[in-house]
Amino acid sequence: MDRRKFLKASSASVASVSAGLSGLPLAAAQTTTSPEVVVVGAGTFGAWTAYHLNRLGAKVVLLDAFGPGNSRSSSGGETRQMQADRPSDVYTRSAKTAYGWWKQLEQESGEKIVLETGKLMLSTSDRGSEAVQELRSRHAEYGIGEAEVLGPDELRYRWPQIYSDDIRWAVYTRHAAGCVMMARHGIETVASQFESNGGKVRIAYCKPEFDSGDRVSRLALSDGSTLSAQHYVFACGPWLATLFPELLKKRLRVQRRDVLFFGSPPGDPSFAYPNLPTWGEIGSGYYGFPDIQHRGFKVAPYPDKNAIDPTADDRLIMPHQVRRGRAYLQQRFPKMAAMPISESRVCQVTDTVDTDFMADLHPGADNVSIVGGGSGHGFKHGPSVGEHVAKMVLGETVDAGFADAFKLLKGEFA
Ligand SMILES: Cc1cc2nc3c(=O)[nH]c(=O)nc-3n(C[C@H](O)[C@H](O)[C@H](O)COP(=O)(O)OP(=O)(O)OC[C@H]3O[C@@H](n4cnc5c(N)ncnc54)[C@H](O)[C@@H]3O)c2cc1C
Repeated sequence: MDRRKFLKASSASVASVSAGLSGLPLAAAQTTTSPEVVVVGAGTFGAWTAYHLNRLGAKVVLLDAFGPGNSRSSSGGETRQMQADRPSDVYTRSAKTAYGWWKQLEQESGEKIVLETGKLMLSTSDRGSEAVQELRSRHAEYGIGEAEVLGPDELRYRWPQIYSDDIRWAVYTRHAAGCVMMARHGIETVASQFESNGGKVRIAYCKPEFDSGDRVSRLALSDGSTLSAQHYVFACGPWLATLFPELLKKRLRVQRRDVLFFGSPPGDPSFAYPNLPTWGEIGSGYYGFPDIQHRGFKVAPYPDKNAIDPTADDRLIMPHQVRRGRAYLQQRFPKMAAMPISESRVCQVTDTVDTDFMADLHPGADNVSIVGGGSGHGFKHGPSVGEHVAKMVLGETVDAGFADAFKLLKGEFA
């Protein structure tokens, strides 16, 4: 469907939706300001989908139960890594496009979101040289900078804060292939830019209501009102399977992640941005960030496989994760090991079975799209996935590789 066809279909549905509302309680009858599209969920996928829909000319409302960048959402952390190290054309292309959009957002808004920290991947094993070669040639092919391979001597010279004696090799990447995004601030910024561009943001929890033909006819909002549109995009992160249990319960798995911030040594900026890149250690499950905005040196310890209720659970860190984080620091960043925890976060990842995102039409409701399944690497890709979803909703030509990778019905957990 092209844009004109979309709008034609839209106005036909407005008539039927309005007729269907008669006889509802007053609060419901008062509510039809009729956006063309409602995007539910103002995390990275939803906020960017709303931004692009608006940019492409649609009338859009962005709804969120707790507000853009809220601390229960997966996008609400302080920082997220930008990288392009998946051996995949789709994700490399997406990272490059997304980086461009994040920078464009900085220009549009005047806000700082992208920090050019560079990114360091460390390996204590000799294996992996073929993967590094593949990474270097893919980065060169996509023009996203040269991945530098460093030995322990060079590593020690550049960053003596890192214990490097057991490191066999490291890869240092920059820009789209290695930097940090101010995550919560980035989401607040994209949502407020969307508003400045004419979109509307509303705080409300909603549930979809289906008509007899399996289309969503309207959203029931937490304030007792309803909201109708021609198309509904559900970008509800870890809440998606609760909204569509039959479709998604076996396709998405939500697990908690504990994140620790260790206070820098007094008067010592060597663990802070820009003196240290963001980093990860291959095969260990540990990664982290330099001290940014004086919040502390951030470490994500090796995760457990624990479920979490994203609405109801307390966000209190597990003591054994503090012990894990400190033991890791003792080994890799010894000067930090005695430092106190200055802050902590509990977040959640929403995995698909193959860790590809979902961005597709609901198979049983052609006025509903679903986007999510960030699988621990979704934040950076918000702008490119959001653009893909916006084009899909408006019937514009989409990237075939994205459409294939982000199919909803690809697989289930056992
Ligand atoms: C600890 C941690 C570290 C990570 N590190 C990285 C990283 O370094 N790089 C990277 O790219 N990615 C990373 N990720 C993954 C990334 O953060 C997620 O993939 C991404 O934020 C998911 O965004 P989302 O829009 O799908 O969901 P969310 O950000 O959770 O947004 C969903 C929104 O929907 C709203 N909502 C839900 N249900 C309703 C409803 N019924 N009505 C109204 N609103 C509703 C919620 O309030 C929420 O704001 C990390 C994740 C975690 C947890």
